Amino acid sequence: MNEHDSEIMAGMLIEEGFQQVESRKEADIVIINTCSIRDNADKRFFGTLGQLKRRKKENPEFTVCVCGCMMQQQHVIDTIKAKYPWVDVIFGTHNIHRLPELLANIVAEKGKQLDVWPEGGEIVEGLPCERLHKSKALVNIMFGCNNFCTYCIVPYTRGRERSRRPDDILGEVKNLVADGVKEIMLLGQNVNSYKGIKTDSADEICDFADLIYMLNEVEGLERIRFMTSHPKDLSDKLIQAFVDCDKLCKNIHLPVQSGSSRILKAMNRRYDKEKYLELVKNLKAAVPGITMSTDIIVGFPGETEEDFEETLDLVRQVRYDSAFTFLYSIRKGTPAEKYENQVPEEIKHERFNRLVDLVNSISAEKNAAYAGRTEKVLVEGPSKTNSKTYSGRTDGFKLVNFPGNESMVGCMVDVRITEGKTFSLEGEVL
Ligand code: SAH
Ligand code: SF4
Repeated sequence: MNEHDSEIMAGMLIEEGFQQVESRKEADIVIINTCSIRDNADKRFFGTLGQLKRRKKENPEFTVCVCGCMMQQQHVIDTIKAKYPWVDVIFGTHNIHRLPELLANIVAEKGKQLDVWPEGGEIVEGLPCERLHKSKALVNIMFGCNNFCTYCIVPYTRGRERSRRPDDILGEVKNLVADGVKEIMLLGQNVNSYKGIKTDSADEICDFADLIYMLNEVEGLERIRFMTSHPKDLSDKLIQAFVDCDKLCKNIHLPVQSGSSRILKAMNRRYDKEKYLELVKNLKAAVPGITMSTDIIVGFPGETEEDFEETLDLVRQVRYDSAFTFLYSIRKGTPAEKYENQVPEEIKHERFNRLVDLVNSISAEKNAAYAGRTEKVLVEGPSKTNSKTYSGRTDGFKLVNFPGNESMVGCMVDVRITEGKTFSLEGEVL
């Protein structure tokens, strides 16, 4: 979501005549888009800000803007105002569309710190976007979250759920396809609770599965993905959409957070281990070969060794293709911040390492089974480390590296997989 916000800000500034530069050193204006999901993201932000102070001192014309989730929190704004008064502009996630206006105001109000952050939340349509990839695009379908998982800051920084109109989404996707996009990723904190109101009929509600069926009809579009779906709201209708919609990739990111029903309750996730495993069973039965990934938090307050064993057991049963694993991080203002039974750091780390070892060994086994198969890959570009190696994703979201060239970028190619590694596959274009 932050990545897409950055694409939109870049799009707006390019429209205003600004140019993107390769490195921060060359820039006259720096915009830092922050994330506040865990403490290490917060720390990195303040570290980066500290580095910019000297440049601002040397050149007062140099402009520093800060935005994103961190700027939706009063304590962060207070810290910036007190310790970093030289920051020119502060704005929150709800005010991205006002960036060009804010930059224009800096010229008018020299030396004054400008900020807009708490109000807003309305959906602004038609903003430009400078995509990171030619052939794939991120598409917001809804904003905010109503779930209030007890560890999570998102409902406080992104506000309540609001869905875009299906007609607006369809219009955007058609424009993207006309611009060369083959794959879209539908974005929302809980896409399953998408509820779009059609422009021509206010009583007709379009739910998430309806939206997929609608987008599946877009000519020229080849792949549809989404992120993230909450297990408590994953409907049979959505599972059926995987069966019926040929463009919907056979892959799902379904965050579980913990395998212990007791911890899930304390997290306010509103499903238990059994319900989650039943969902996985239904998905695997309806969509043979579906690949699955998840998010897991280790060391939520009160997590015992037994609770953690339940998580390991769930991972063994589901056999995820990959998983994002996180150490629980206390977030100011969330209910879990006040829980007294915080897990000591060394225990968290020890459990985290055991979990990562298990997840990686399953990923490696699953990927090894791809050797000899042929997969359709949407080519994204050269790899960061070797300019002759190109990479792309399979329908199941596996990263594939192969010898390639620039003419392949944006194309769907057949790749024969030669080796499956822990985090990626190796192959040759047929
Ligand atoms: N809306 C998505 C998650 C968005 S946040 C969902 O509910 O699935 C992405 C992930 O960050 C979460 O799934 C969770 O695993 C992790 N996360 C969120 N808050 C966290 C915290 N306080 N400490 C550690 N991990 C956290
Ligand atoms: Fe955070 Fe839970 Fe909302 Fe996801 S569903 S964004 S984890 S509160």
